[in-house]
Amino acid sequence: MSIAVFGSINIDLTTYAKRLPAPGETLHGDTYGLGLGGKGCNQAVACVKLGAQTAMIGRIGPDMFGETALKALNELNVPTDHIYSDPDNKTGIAVIGVDEKAENCITVIGGANMAIDESDVVRSQAVFKASDILLLQLEIPMQAGLKAAALVREAGGRVIFDPAPAPAEGLADAVLSQIDIITPNETETGLLTGLRPSNRAEAAEAATRLRARGVPVAIIKLGAHGVYFQSATEEGFVEPFKVEAIDTVAAGDCFNGGLAYALADGQSLSDAVRFAAACGALSTTKRGASSAAPTLAEVTAMLNA
Ligand code: ADP
Repeated sequence: MSIAVFGSINIDLTTYAKRLPAPGETLHGDTYGLGLGGKGCNQAVACVKLGAQTAMIGRIGPDMFGETALKALNELNVPTDHIYSDPDNKTGIAVIGVDEKAENCITVIGGANMAIDESDVVRSQAVFKASDILLLQLEIPMQAGLKAAALVREAGGRVIFDPAPAPAEGLADAVLSQIDIITPNETETGLLTGLRPSNRAEAAEAATRLRARGVPVAIIKLGAHGVYFQSATEEGFVEPFKVEAIDTVAAGDCFNGGLAYALADGQSLSDAVRFAAACGALSTTKRGASSAAPTLAEVTAMLNA
């Protein structure tokens, strides 16, 4: 099995303080963290930790943060040979403020991620053609993602698209018809369909609306309330796994990494969604983004419990 992740690479700088600063205010905080982030990276790490052969395709800038990202990816065993250094753009960053109630505010500078274009698809075309599954998100230009999607699908692979961060302007039907599986959370589903689901019936209606616009499979992530899935031949609901959730950062990314792993492994849609839901649930029991992704042994133990 092989999985390609075409997406963002960021360095996250997170500050922790009692409260978030008001405009014009300088505040003394408590501590900070500096780590690997970006939805692309998070999903690639999730796949690698499960044991999948994974390729990460993306861009960094010729700067300190780019070096930090490469070092972190190497330490996590994510292959970096399709991560290109862009001489004209800076490595992407997210500056995150967290207060004592875990409320946050985030500024993302896309940098090199948003300069990704067709040339990256061309230079990595052999990887895309050889992949069973392609994982896409919305932190790189969609146009480039769709070029990669076409290569993967022509070669018989499938494309899983996470429409996150939520696209305020929605998505054209032309995009939905060029992917195989879409995995929005409640907010993203609301933006894409006009219906923000909070239960199975509403998720089923939203999935029907998405499929009517051209995507064969819709998987609606309802956070702690479970997951709904629908294809032309199957539909169902996976009840949430019971966990002590302490940090939901990147739960969606671990879900998508798990979904890619299970589908590449030949599992049915319903089994793959259940596998993915276990990955998402397990990730909420640990702090951090990539560091919270579960191993195959942890997921298997939860599925067999
Ligand atoms: P996103 O991070 O995209 O908003 P969600 O918050 O919906 O995604 O989380 C992704 C998946 O992780 C959920 O669909 C669910 O399977 C699992 N998950 C998230 N939070 C919990 C939780 N508190 N308990 C159990 N499972 C959870």
